[in-house]
Amino acid sequence: MGASIAIVGSGPTGCYTAQALRKALPDAEIVIFERDPQPYGLVRTGVAPDHTGTKAVTRQFDRLFERERVKLVPGVEVGRTVALDELTKAFHAVVLATGLGADRRLGIAGETLARVTGSGAFARFANGAGGPRPDISGHILVIGAGNVAIDVARVALKGAGAFDGETSTSATIVARGTREAARFDPAMLKELEQAADGRLTLRFGLTPLSIRGEQTVSAILFQDSAGKTEEIACDSIVTAIGFEAEATALPYRPFETGAPVMLAPGLFAAGWFRRGPRGTIVDARAEGQTVAAAILESGCLTTERRGYDGLSLQDTQKALT
Ligand SMILES: Cc1cc2nc3c(=O)[nH]c(=O)nc-3n(C[C@H](O)[C@H](O)[C@H](O)COP(=O)(O)OP(=O)(O)OC[C@H]3O[C@@H](n4cnc5c(N)ncnc54)[C@H](O)[C@@H]3O)c2cc1C
Repeated sequence: MGASIAIVGSGPTGCYTAQALRKALPDAEIVIFERDPQPYGLVRTGVAPDHTGTKAVTRQFDRLFERERVKLVPGVEVGRTVALDELTKAFHAVVLATGLGADRRLGIAGETLARVTGSGAFARFANGAGGPRPDISGHILVIGAGNVAIDVARVALKGAGAFDGETSTSATIVARGTREAARFDPAMLKELEQAADGRLTLRFGLTPLSIRGEQTVSAILFQDSAGKTEEIACDSIVTAIGFEAEATALPYRPFETGAPVMLAPGLFAAGWFRRGPRGTIVDARAEGQTVAAAILESGCLTTERRGYDGLSLQDTQKALT
């Protein structure tokens, strides 16, 4: 039989890898395994619900499954539902593109109080992808210096997506570094300022020391570069300070500081799983092309493999039908 390639994770990296492979190998079997019941990773659960233009990239990914004979297997967590080892035995090449899912924590006292949420959990709820509803009423304080912090403040002030009917009255974004060091996209900042209509404050050069409150957050204590402390009152806090590796059933942890594209013969790494939580959907496209080229160059497609039909998972599914 022809080449068979398994991709683990249907985020933009997995989908762009499938797209590049399909172009190069029109007859190959390409299967994407996805843990969630629905595909597209952070494009579905992370990108802000009011940024429909960005989310529209999923339409070109839909075509992979509808017209380009890429098989999507949702609801299958590789490492739990099917062993990675089984995949590497059945497919010529396996690509790990599982992302990097957990909110990075501040590591300060009070972080477990009610109404303190990570931006990943906030975005998942806003996108209708599940999880507990963060209470955003009152004054929301967002910690972070990137575009995710901007997204959180805008979604809260607008009551966008699943927050329909609930908005924050005001928002403060606080960054540890200087204004010049902040990674805010000017166009996104402008969009936020328009949505905020005077309800937004930006603060820089403040390091969070501890979160105050009894059961629910009431304030947060910061220190400036001169060592002076300042308490800012708030009704809720969202931390948008990046992402880190979550506990995974795979024998590999995501490589937060970078790894080669080929981990072992026939086993490849891509996207946030390989590079850490940096980069956009556009970067995922280039990554997909790089990984596809590495697979083609590696010579791994010539060995004897059974592909999807060789999986025990396949037997279980046959037995159920
Ligand atoms: C809150 C937020 C907002 C963002 N907004 C933007 C934006 O507006 N524009 C932009 O360009 N970029 C944005 N980004 C960045 C962008 O989402 C990432 O660059 C991109 O999604 C990374 O792609 P990925 O495929 O590597 O990982 P992911 O998108 O995380 O996809 C990984 C997939 O693997 C699946 N998976 C994990 N483990 C397993 C397993 N064991 N078995 C099977 N499947 C598994 C996951 O369920 C997931 O579907 C945002 C990121 C976040 C966090």
